[in-house]
Amino acid sequence: GLVGIFDLVVFGGTGDLARRKILPALFKRFCAGQMPKPSRLIGAARTDMDTEAYRAFVRIAIKEFVDIPDGDDAALEAFLAQLEYVVLDARGDTGWATLQGMMAPDRVRAFYFSVGPGLFEDLACKLHQWNLTEDDSRIVVEKPFGRDLETAQELNAILAAHFHESQIYRIDHYLGKETVQNLMAVRFGNMLFEPLWNSQYIDHIQITVAETVGVAGRDVYYERAGAMRDMVQNHLMQLLCLIAMEPPAKFEPDAVRDEKLKVIRALDPVEPHHIVRGQYTSADGVASYREDVGNDRSKTESFMALKCHLSNWRWAGTPFYLRTGKRMEVRNSKITVVFKDAPHSIFGPEAGRHNNELTIVLQPNEGITLDVTIKEPGQGGMRLMDVPLDMSFAEALGEGSHAPDAYERLIMDVIRGNQTLFMRNDEVEAAWAWTDPLIRGWESRGDVPKPYDSFTTGPDGAAQLLRRDGREWRGLL
Ligand code: NAD
Repeated sequence: GLVGIFDLVVFGGTGDLARRKILPALFKRFCAGQMPKPSRLIGAARTDMDTEAYRAFVRIAIKEFVDIPDGDDAALEAFLAQLEYVVLDARGDTGWATLQGMMAPDRVRAFYFSVGPGLFEDLACKLHQWNLTEDDSRIVVEKPFGRDLETAQELNAILAAHFHESQIYRIDHYLGKETVQNLMAVRFGNMLFEPLWNSQYIDHIQITVAETVGVAGRDVYYERAGAMRDMVQNHLMQLLCLIAMEPPAKFEPDAVRDEKLKVIRALDPVEPHHIVRGQYTSADGVASYREDVGNDRSKTESFMALKCHLSNWRWAGTPFYLRTGKRMEVRNSKITVVFKDAPHSIFGPEAGRHNNELTIVLQPNEGITLDVTIKEPGQGGMRLMDVPLDMSFAEALGEGSHAPDAYERLIMDVIRGNQTLFMRNDEVEAAWAWTDPLIRGWESRGDVPKPYDSFTTGPDGAAQLLRRDGREWRGLL
């Protein structure tokens, strides 16, 4: 879609997130013609450098993180020309007058808080004090959004003191993934799925987010967070919402977010024996979790699996199994919707029984597959087999098509003023209100995560969680 003129101010513009995600994403949108002149990206950080040095810094970052055909630097240089930099201290007065002097009229202003959450309050106050925001200016905040209900409420209150909720964009980059949006297209654009989308036809749903990386580099943050706060409270719950929500009347921000909120509020508390926490141990030359965080008595989970239920008409009786972990055997994020068996098999026991499964893969290869039962080819009796109806996007959309990655999509949604894929204050708080008692529960029980070998599927308890119910996790590939 068309994008107007904008100024995107990135606080923390020299940080890791800016370097790896924000700047490469904006460059790709620039190449797609979505950063019309004289739009600017203004880096603002404590690092002492001038605009020329910042452009040099960004040039290196883009070359590292974006595939640019050899010798084709014209686009990159044109992009860099639209970048500026200001040395600025969120906690002091340095740089704010300069930034104020740089602001131009008649263009969208977006302020990206790509700094630690400890600086959000300072930034919000300073933006206000220096009169930098207009009614339709946008504030973008990154995770982690609090570490429990209380801190999330504090953060929301700080933001609400200076901005309207309609100006605040809380990023959960999982929501920017093409497949996640396709999930909504599949559910609500087809007659085929929605009539079956309930506990009468769906046996259970699995959501897996598996990573192969450990926590090295983020160890201080992670040791205080754990998988529940780092992944479940935000990404997995957001996916659960999109899978489980009622059809919104319109694909509009508040219509969608109202339905997601209802899902979170319908979640039952989770029974302690439906929670499995794990910690990776060393293998194949990698360190253990406890070595990575330098705490040989750590009780923080690097893996977690849980079984939860939604108390509403649509889902009563259908369990949702969630699992996520570091140092798992492969990197894979997916949702599997497992339909019930056909009520009766006319082919007899030799044919085998099969059920339909809808698999939505978020990474590494985004796509959607529907397993359909057909006859095994060849003579002999009637034997059944599953074949996938494959909707791999690369194939369906052609190799040349470049689906924007999550950050590209979300940054452009900020510029366009579309909040549909961003979390609202009440959603975030409801999610913490559900996770807080679970965390307090295992803390008060003194629960210690179970060790699991690195590069496996997590502790045995995770498999048992489903096996007790006569079910199995779907493979990680
Ligand atoms: P970082 O430490 O690499 O960068 C911090 C940035 O903030 C630097 O540019 C620094 O100059 C600036 N800064 C620090 N103190 C400042 C001050 N007083 N005034 C002005 N600028 C100041 O951090 P990061 O990894 O880029 O993370 C930024 C935010 O994004 C954090 O909230 C983090 O939790 C979140 N986040 C990061 C990632 C990631 O992959 N790095 C992923 C998800 C969320």
